[in-house]
Amino acid sequence: MSTDICKMYDFTGKSIVITGAGGVLGGEMARTLYECGANVTILDYNLTAAQNMADQIRQTPGTGKSLAIQANVLQPEVVKAAMDQVITEFGQIDGLINAAGGNKPDASTSAEKSFFDLSVDAMRWVFDLNLLGTIIPSQIVGRHMAERKQGVILNVSSMNAYRPLTRIPAYSAAKAGASNFTQWLAVHMAQEYSPKIRVNAIAPGFFLTEQNRFLLTAEETGELSARGKRIMDHTPMGRFGTPEDLNGAVLWLLSPASAFVTGIIVPIDGGFSAYSGV
Ligand code: NAD
Repeated sequence: MSTDICKMYDFTGKSIVITGAGGVLGGEMARTLYECGANVTILDYNLTAAQNMADQIRQTPGTGKSLAIQANVLQPEVVKAAMDQVITEFGQIDGLINAAGGNKPDASTSAEKSFFDLSVDAMRWVFDLNLLGTIIPSQIVGRHMAERKQGVILNVSSMNAYRPLTRIPAYSAAKAGASNFTQWLAVHMAQEYSPKIRVNAIAPGFFLTEQNRFLLTAEETGELSARGKRIMDHTPMGRFGTPEDLNGAVLWLLSPASAFVTGIIVPIDGGFSAYSGV
């Protein structure tokens, strides 16, 4: 039995597409899956970032292949062409990770910018990227999975989907939407197409990356901002997450080890959500 469980983390011959994998967290997921034998597709609208990541991944030990594709997750016809390319290259798509996402300063309140003055365009950008940017690839790959009657989708939500964080109303609402959509799609795929199509999400807590560096550290010194310090005070484990911290949950949710798990959102937050502050 234990041997069978170990084999479940062998992704040899599996084809996994990771959107936003030119970035920090998606890139780490791609690297880990590659090291576990998968053929990984790094899909990102930043082609240079995607190619660099695919090149880096090829330097690590792995038996699969890594493919870089430029695509904007908000353009259905472009995503469709990208997925067709993956199917031509690898034969099928077994897993999709929707990691493209992010926030921007113009959609965040600050001492200089009140909620009342937030730009509608900036908020729309955040909604589109985090919500439609999850839904559109799921529609396109979901159809392929429905035809094959199997597959796994993993969305990247956030801890702020459970309880909104101050300053980032659009990002919090968009990620709450992504969590809600995860549960909706899990039910829909299982009932309408196949119980072997599973849809889950991870909810990372605080990981210091380019999208939130402006909120968590002081630009001039690189030291923790007041917000960064408050987060640390409320994280029982006393540190930010590292990209590697996501790997266990990612492998579990993409593998048959979680065969009876669908529609869940797994917090990976160093205990932040469990701590009342007292
Ligand atoms: P990142 O900025 O390093 O990576 C995001 C990648 O997405 C970038 O390479 C970017 O080019 C790509 N991208 C952006 N818009 C795109 C589009 N329209 N089409 C295709 N690609 C696009 O960010 P990250 O920190 O690695 O975040 C990855 C995911 O994790 C995001 O969904 C983010 O919201 C989520 N998340 C991050 C944290 C954190 O603390 N960093 C916490 C919770 C959730």
